[in-house]
Amino acid sequence: MLDKGCALITGAAKGIGRQIALTLAKAGYDIVINYRGSEEAAERTRTECENLGAKALKIKADVSNEAECEEMFAEIKKEFGQIALLVNNAGITKDGLIMRMSAEDFESVIDINLKGAFFCSKNAARMMLRQKYGKIINISSVVGIVGNAGQANYSASKAGLIGLTKSLAKELAPRGITVNAVAPGFIVSDMTDALGDEQKDKLAAQIPLNRLGEAEDIANMVEFLASEKASYITGQVISVDGGMNI
Ligand code: NAP
Repeated sequence: MLDKGCALITGAAKGIGRQIALTLAKAGYDIVINYRGSEEAAERTRTECENLGAKALKIKADVSNEAECEEMFAEIKKEFGQIALLVNNAGITKDGLIMRMSAEDFESVIDINLKGAFFCSKNAARMMLRQKYGKIINISSVVGIVGNAGQANYSASKAGLIGLTKSLAKELAPRGITVNAVAPGFIVSDMTDALGDEQKDKLAAQIPLNRLGEAEDIANMVEFLASEKASYITGQVISVDGGMNI
C-alpha cells in the first residue's frame, strides 16, 4: 500500500466525514478521525479504516475549542510526526428565520463551522509550513454561495469558509501548500435525514441531476483535490451539487 502520510478529517465519525475517511484510507493515507460526541460511531469508522489497510486513530476534540485543537495536533505530531492533509468537515446547523434566531444559535454555528476550521488550519499550517508540503480542504456548501432562507447562520459560516480558503491559499502557496473548498449540494446524511420525505422529493425536483447526492460524491472530489493530479489547483471552490448552482 502507498503511504501518503497522515490525513485528519474533522467530524469523521459518520456522514460525509466518515466516507471521506474510508475513501482516503483506501487511497493509502493514515487516518485521524476527529469526533466530538459520537464515540461508538468514531470507533466503527476507525476499525473500517484499519480493515482497509490504514493506520487509524480517533481523537475526541471539539473543533470550536482552541485548546482541544492544539492537543489534537500535538497527539498527531506524536503519533505520525507530520500531517499531509487536513479536511475541515465538522459542521452543524441551527436553522431558523432571522427574527427567531438567537445570538447563541448564530454564534455556535459560526464557532464550529468557521472558527473550528480556522483553529485546525492554523495548527495544520504550523506543521505544513515546516514540512513545505500539505493540503487543506474545507467542506463548504452550496448555500455558502447562493444563500438560503432560514439558514443565515449556516450560510454565513459556509461563505466565511470560502474567504478563509482563498486567503489561506494565497498565504500558503509559496510553501507549496494548497487550500481548496468543496461545496456540496444536498447530500444524504443525518443532516438531511432531519428533512421529511416530502421535503426531500421537493428538493430533488429542484436539482438538475434530479437526486440528492451521496457522501461518495463528496469523498471522490476530496480524494482528487488531495492527490498529485490536483497539485496546480488552489484557492478554488468546487461545487458537487448535481447542478444546483448553475
Ligand atoms: P453530520 O452527519 O451531521 O456530521 C457532522 C459531523 O460533525 C458529526 O459527526 C459531528 O460529530 C461533527 N461535529 C459537529 N460539531 C463538532 C465539533 N464541535 N467538533 C468536532 N466535530 C463536530 O453531517 P454531514 O452531512 O456529514 O456534514 C458534513 C459536512 O458537510 C458539514 O460541514 C456540513 O455542513 C457539510 N455539508 C453537508 C451537506 C448535506 O447535505 N449533508 C451539504 C452541504 C455541506 P459528533 O457526532 O461526534 O458530534
